[in-house]
Amino acid sequence: DPAVAASDGDSPLQREDGLRPRRLADYIGQGELKQVLGIAVEATRGRGEALDHVLLYGPPGLGKTTMALVLAEELGVRCRITSAPALERPRDIVGLLVNLQPNELLFIDEIHRLNRVAEELLYPAMEDFRLDLTVGKGTTARTRSLPIAPFTLVGATTRAGALSSPLRDRFGLIQRLEFYGLDDLQAIVQRAAGLLQVALDAEAALEVARRCRGTPRIANRLLRRVRDVAAVGGHGRVSAALVQEALSLHRVDARGLDAHDRRLLTLMLESYGGGPVGLDTLAAGLGEDPATLEAVVEPYLLQQGLLQRTPRGRVLTDAGRAHLAAA
Ligand code: ATP
Repeated sequence: DPAVAASDGDSPLQREDGLRPRRLADYIGQGELKQVLGIAVEATRGRGEALDHVLLYGPPGLGKTTMALVLAEELGVRCRITSAPALERPRDIVGLLVNLQPNELLFIDEIHRLNRVAEELLYPAMEDFRLDLTVGKGTTARTRSLPIAPFTLVGATTRAGALSSPLRDRFGLIQRLEFYGLDDLQAIVQRAAGLLQVALDAEAALEVARRCRGTPRIANRLLRRVRDVAAVGGHGRVSAALVQEALSLHRVDARGLDAHDRRLLTLMLESYGGGPVGLDTLAAGLGEDPATLEAVVEPYLLQQGLLQRTPRGRVLTDAGRAHLAAA
């Protein structure tokens, strides 16, 4: 079934990337997340039960999938991976749930996109490890309950606010992932460089860290580009200068902003005098979906203080103006 990948095999997710930390101790940063989940894992192991359901939210690429796999590893169980758009028909989710072994993890990415039927099947499954299935049609239709193995649902979303409250309320642990700070990113880059066998000095790792938008997934991508440039140029060791040279090709600026980010800021400045301007207006101007703009593009710009959300709309800050002027 292409909708499902097991964490113990060579799923596309794992093949793509031997860089995922496997244990909690190797997961860099996100201190509060690790502490909360570490305690829950420890307690659950002692009881031999399924871990409480976990909702992870935050911008893409911060390690939600990685954390689900780490939790499975710590608990010594398998993690099945799927995403809401792959669960279109009721039988997709039923098939997954009935095949779970006791205490296994089921990871559903983009969980805010589940349809209503799938969501309603999940409620009794999450609450009582039971599926309520309708058999027959019309006046002869009956509901049959089917027990399933106790399991842990790990939901991931970029938009926690888009979850229905009955679904959100069924998660015992709700945790937000934050953009990573420079030190953590530098450590992530150095760890990945070791695994990819790239000789990178600390300054060079910091240079990658500065340009990855606070996001490990982007850091890994940039590191691969740096590795290419180093290999083609015959450089044994990678210096900060070489990183700058390699990444200037990729239009990532010194603050980690990509072309997308700069288009948004530039639009705000040039067409709206820096704002305030509404999200929908900006989205239309960029040809983007407003929800994506809000959940994927804006968070980093807000965190960097380049943009502000006000009741009257988005406003470019002085730092945002300065950044555009310097670019
Ligand atoms: P999302 O939050 O969108 O689910 P993700 O979980 O898919 O993001 P990953 O693909 O798991 O993000 O992370 C990308 C890569 O970044 C991982 O393969 C791993 O190499 C690295 N990575 C992510 N988080 C960490 C971390 N905390 N420590 C070390 N490496 C990390």
